[in-house]
Amino acid sequence: MAKTVIETAARRALPKECCGLLVGHEKTISRAVEAPNLARDPDRFELDAKVHLSLQRDLRGTGEQIVGVFHSHPYGQPVPSAEDFAQASYSGWIWLITALDDKGCTSRAWRAEDTGFVPMALRCVD
Ligand SMILES: [Zn+2]
Repeated sequence: MAKTVIETAARRALPKECCGLLVGHEKTISRAVEAPNLARDPDRFELDAKVHLSLQRDLRGTGEQIVGVFHSHPYGQPVPSAEDFAQASYSGWIWLITALDDKGCTSRAWRAEDTGFVPMALRCVD
C-alpha cells in the first residue's frame, strides 16, 4: 500500500515533485502519508509542516513513528539531488526517492547521515 500511495502521488504531481512522510518502525515502513508540496520550484519539495505536526500527534502512543520522507524525481534518477543534500536536516531519516520514466516508477531508499546519504534496504510491509 505504501508503494501504491507513493507512485500514485508521484504521477499526480507531475510535472512537479510529490512529497510525504513514511510511517513505521525503524527500517520497516507500514504506510506513506502524502503531504502538499509547498515549493514553487518544480525541482524541489517543501513538505507542509502542518501535516508533519498533526501526523506526529496522531502517532503518539501508537508505537509507530515518522521514520522518513518520500518524494519524486519526475525526470531524474532515484538518487539524492544537490537540493536534497542541502535540505536533509533530519539525521537518521529514511529518504525514499521515486523516479518516473516511460517504463514506470523506480524507488530507492537512502538514509540521511551527517556525512550524506547512504543507500539502504527498505522493507514495506504491504
Ligand atoms: Zn530530490
